[in-house]
Amino acid sequence: MEVIVLGCNGPYPASYGATAGYLVRTGEGFVMMDMGSGVFARIGKLCKPENIAAVTISHLHFDHFSDMGVFNYYLESLAKAGKFQGRIPCYVPPVAEDVAQLERMYPYFRFVGVKEGGMYEFAGLQAEFSRLNHGVPNYGVRLTEKSSGRRLVYSGDTNECPALGRLLRECDLWLGGAPLIGKEYKGAGGHLSAEKMKDLVIKYDLKAVLTHLWPVHTEREYEDAVFDDRVQIAKAFKSYQV
Ligand SMILES: [Zn+2]
Ligand SMILES: [Zn+2]
Repeated sequence: MEVIVLGCNGPYPASYGATAGYLVRTGEGFVMMDMGSGVFARIGKLCKPENIAAVTISHLHFDHFSDMGVFNYYLESLAKAGKFQGRIPCYVPPVAEDVAQLERMYPYFRFVGVKEGGMYEFAGLQAEFSRLNHGVPNYGVRLTEKSSGRRLVYSGDTNECPALGRLLRECDLWLGGAPLIGKEYKGAGGHLSAEKMKDLVIKYDLKAVLTHLWPVHTEREYEDAVFDDRVQIAKAFKSYQV
């Protein structure tokens, strides 16, 4: 399987950029992980949005889900023209009032509040979700391709925590937000730093793609902070093999 970066900024997009959004392609279909601002317009370069088998939303911060609204308008337009029926499953943190509100706001999706450690299947993948360490409930996901056994972890926004270690222990590629550099990381708080990500890559012997790039920093600053060829800095439209 491969994961294609559609947007890699946070918490707001760089000029002409997009925030979190990652398209996973397997032999059986497509999955979107997060739907941040500017991401919907970029899906069409790679597949028809209505063909996406499932959407996963790590958490309900706008840089991770704001384009759900325009995605829903798109599906509504197709449905009115008789070109789409049904609802696309969308896996979200299991906060009952949030799930009910999402169901009302985005009726062309079927929202599923994920269970900790529960297993879900779509597009030839097994998905396992785990709550991580962020200001609001944020669920990391490990996608295991059934045909190959390859494993992708997307951690969304999180600081270090035991649950992140459990996800990373069985993982071939880790895609995760690590927007802070150096002294910006103060221990507490809901985000990793580039240096912390590198430490975890060494600890769990992984390859990683660092994303959620904060536009106040240049790509070069992130590269200098990690300085390890096992950690790549996310680039829009780049594909990473898992
Ligand atoms: Zn974010
Ligand atoms: Zn967040």
